Amino acid sequence: MRVTKKIKEEQLAILEETYRGAKPELVFSNAFELLIAVILSAQCTDKRVNVTTARLFQKAATPEAILEMGLAQLEEEIRDCGLFRNKAKNILAACRILCEKYGGQVPDSFADLESLPGVGRKTANVVMSVAFHHPAIAVDTHVFRISNRLKLAVGTTPLEVEKELQRVIPREKWSDAHHWLIWHGRKICKARKPLCGTCPLADVCPSVMAE
Ligand code: SF4
Repeated sequence: MRVTKKIKEEQLAILEETYRGAKPELVFSNAFELLIAVILSAQCTDKRVNVTTARLFQKAATPEAILEMGLAQLEEEIRDCGLFRNKAKNILAACRILCEKYGGQVPDSFADLESLPGVGRKTANVVMSVAFHHPAIAVDTHVFRISNRLKLAVGTTPLEVEKELQRVIPREKWSDAHHWLIWHGRKICKARKPLCGTCPLADVCPSVMAE
């Protein structure tokens, strides 16, 4: 199947129709909590992150409080999230910068966010989009896989896919489309066994497989 501009528009229309209103599963009440939750979510389920952050934020919900908590206790608090030593080190270093450079606030700037320890392009895009409501498309493993399978945006790196998605999706829909693609990846177009037989995109997908 040749994936023309028209087919891409149809793919996006079906995704929108199917996942309209999709929101992040991470629980947070401000930009700082979201930032910490996204850092913790690397190689960890959102469900597990939510359990961890519910406990952590009861004890420390600001950069100052987390700095005060110190490395050993923070490691203990986030132990269940995997890669916890590295994540704890990065979170503490990020909290220190937030306190010293940004008055304890999360900066509303992609470049400033991306310069924080433990914050890559994906995390910075999530915070820009979800916390600060700027149009952004964070390319995680789901977005990367689905974009390539649909040939909606083909690329060998997350950055290539992000740039291509920005080209084919109207700017005002970037943030929503990011959620549609994540939900589609979680529910139907799974990494190992995509459920093509029940996929609403099967007629417009060049990678459809017989189950
Ligand atoms: S048809 Fe299959 S490969 Fe294509 S988007 Fe749907 S689940 Fe994924």
